[in-house]
Order: sequence, then C-alpha cells, then structure tokens
Amino acid sequence: MSKEELRCSFCGRSKPQTQLLVAGLDAHICDKCIEQAHGIVVEENQQGETDQQIDFTLKPPKNIKAFLDQYVVGQDTAKRILSVAVYNHYKRITKKVTDTDVEIQKSNVLIVGQTGTGKTLLAQTISKFLNVPLAIVDATILTEAGYVGEDVESILTRLLQAADYDLERAQRGIVFIDEIDKIARKSDNPSITRDVSGEGVQQALLKLLEGTVVNVPPKGGRKHPDQKFIEVDTSNILFIAGGAFAGIEPLISKRLNLQAIGYKNEKDRQQVSEENLLKYITPKDIRSFGLIPEIIGRLPVLTHLQPLDNNALRAILTQPKNALIKQYEALFEMDGIDLNFTAQALDYIVEKAVTYQLGARGLRSLCEAILNEAMFELPKTDTKALKITKTYAEEQLSKIELPKLKAVS
Ligand code: ADP
Repeated sequence: MSKEELRCSFCGRSKPQTQLLVAGLDAHICDKCIEQAHGIVVEENQQGETDQQIDFTLKPPKNIKAFLDQYVVGQDTAKRILSVAVYNHYKRITKKVTDTDVEIQKSNVLIVGQTGTGKTLLAQTISKFLNVPLAIVDATILTEAGYVGEDVESILTRLLQAADYDLERAQRGIVFIDEIDKIARKSDNPSITRDVSGEGVQQALLKLLEGTVVNVPPKGGRKHPDQKFIEVDTSNILFIAGGAFAGIEPLISKRLNLQAIGYKNEKDRQQVSEENLLKYITPKDIRSFGLIPEIIGRLPVLTHLQPLDNNALRAILTQPKNALIKQYEALFEMDGIDLNFTAQALDYIVEKAVTYQLGARGLRSLCEAILNEAMFELPKTDTKALKITKTYAEEQLSKIELPKLKAVS
C-alpha cells in the first residue's frame, strides 16, 4: 500500500489530509479521530464519577452520623435527625421515577440553636461528606425584590459559584440560610407598615425552598444588568436554615403551659430551665415567633442544638478531626517545633471562653492570642519544642484585653 492509499479507518481521511496517522494492527487512526475519541473517554469518565457520587450519597444515616461525629462535638439529637433528613433527601433525588411512585417531598431542615453551637459547622460537614457544593447565606442581607439589599436569587448565585458554575452539581447542592429568625414578622399585624426584610422575604423564599426553576444572574444581581441568566432548578437542592431564635423559650413555656416563675421547688425549676426548653420546640413555637406557616411547612425537619458547656468546649479544642489544637500543632510542626498544651492550660482556655462568653468561636481567638508571640518569634530559630502551660497562657493573655476578643470573633 502506498503512503497516499493509507487512510484513517474511522473517518476515511487519507494520509495527506491528516496531521498524523497512527498505525494499529489492522487499522489506522488520524489525529482528529484520536482527539474525538479522547473527548468521549473524558465525558464517559465524568459520567462515571457522577454516578459514583450518587452512590456515595446513599450511605445510610449511621454512616452520615459517624462522619459528623468526627467533626462536630455533642449535639447528638440534631446529628441523628439531620442524618436521616439528608439520607432521605438524597434517596429522593436518586430515586427512579415511575408512574406509580409516591412523590417524596423535600426534607429541608430548620436548626434552632444559639450562635456558635455548630449550625454552620453541621451544614459544612454534611456538604463535605456528600461532596456537594455548599452556599452559606445570611438571611439578613435578603430583601424583597426592588429594595436595597439582595434578592433571594442571590442565594443561588452563591451556590453556582460554590459549584464553579457546574449547574448539575449546583442543583444537587446544599444551601445554608443562617439567621432565618431575623426575617420573622416583626408584628402580628402584617399590614401596619411595609415589612421589607421580614414577611416579604419569607414569601420570596417559599418557592425556592419548595422547588422551582429560577432565573439566576450568574454574577449576582444588580451590578451586572446585562448578564445572561442561568436557569436553576431548586427541586433537588437541600435547604438547611438556622437561627438562634432568641427569646423563643418563653413562647415554648407558654405553650407548655408553664409559668416562668413560681415553681414549687428547685428540682422543678431545673427541669424546665430555659436551657432545656429548646428540646420541646415545635413548629407552633416557630410560628408564634413570627415565621409564616408556609415557610415552616417547607422546612419540615425541625431540630435544636444544645448550648455548649465546659466539657463540650474542652472537647472542641482537642477532639474533632481538625480540632484547633491539632491545627496549631500541625502549624508548629511545619517549623520543626513540637507544640504541647498541658491539661491545665486547656482548662484555662475553656474557663476564659466561658467567663467572657466567647463561646466556641472565642476558643480560636484565645489560642491565637496565646500563641501569637511564639508564632512570630520562633520560626527559623533553634527552638524544637514549646510547652504551653497555664502560666504561659495567663502571661500571654494578660497582654490583651479579653473582652475585645468578642468583637473580633
Ligand atoms: P453557628 O452557625 O451555630 O453560629 P458555627 O457552626 O459557625 O456556629 O460554629 C462556630 C465555630 O465554633 C465553628 O467554626 C467550630 O469551630 C466551633 N464549634 C461550634 N460548635 C461546635 C461543635 N458542636 N463541635 C465542634 N466545633 C464547634
């Protein structure tokens, strides 16, 4: 066979029409067909990955909870409820639809708990477990369309960004809406004044939570009026809303028909102390607080987080997979320094966090303050080890004004 007669066995191009013709046993392939075949392989692999991801999401609730346990201290009830909700949600997504099938509704979640008790961390950990994108938004920045602030669609812009504009991934992602309690209706009579950031936003959120196709400006709202919209279907997006709902306890106790004062004895008082009232929370209380029934209906899974006590704070310092102390140890190790905290030093940090009501967020600020000098002075010196004792911690903290930490945390 002469050179001219050699042809690509796939597209038939003759040798002179190609840049390259690779010979096989009985056939030839040209550069163009190689490229095309490569494209097909890449696409197939990606498809394979997506399927794998879906399989992965179907790990049972016990596995989800075990994963959460690695990162989030305590909060057992919330973890169990959340694990089941997430499992059901992703079962719903992956379920093959047939005519006779029961339609499974979304299991969006509402988490009630003081700030700094792990609401965001739970959402983050779930998105890590599922390997799906997560958008964290603050409900307080949302306003009704046409008012100063962000439209609710901006939530989906963030999710698209978190998914690197991969629409498929975004549509199976998680949105965490923080401070949902701040858009509660301000008064029982909605007609008194225009409630721009309250009920109007709740109304706008409804459709998103339920599942609808939304035109989303990919770069965010108003600054880029000419951009092309992306259609995002929210049916398979899991929404987790969180809020402190400060002041909801009296509403719970009122419903439970308990008076806030006048217990017969100390034991009774303890049983219904404001702290554990949250565990009796029901959608009715959320409604009394000012969320509209339609929103509550679209956040059907309700759970609560416990305030963190000393033991929990102590555990947060050292136990989670990426616990603060482990992070600092790793940072020092990169400089060849063996960092150690004594038990008394750790107790002392917790004590300060509690005294100054810094919560779990404050633990980081405290560690930062204690270690700052060492992190500044020690790199590239001969120091091979650093032991943080209570005295050392006290000394370092005496150089700063502790109450100020609250502001930065
Ligand atoms: P929230 O969203 O409830 O205000 P976060 O989840 O943002 O609180 O928590 C703030 C920080 O405190 C987190 O980054 C985390 O380090 C720590 N934290 C809070 N609660 C826990 C917990 N239960 N387990 C581990 N870390 C926690």
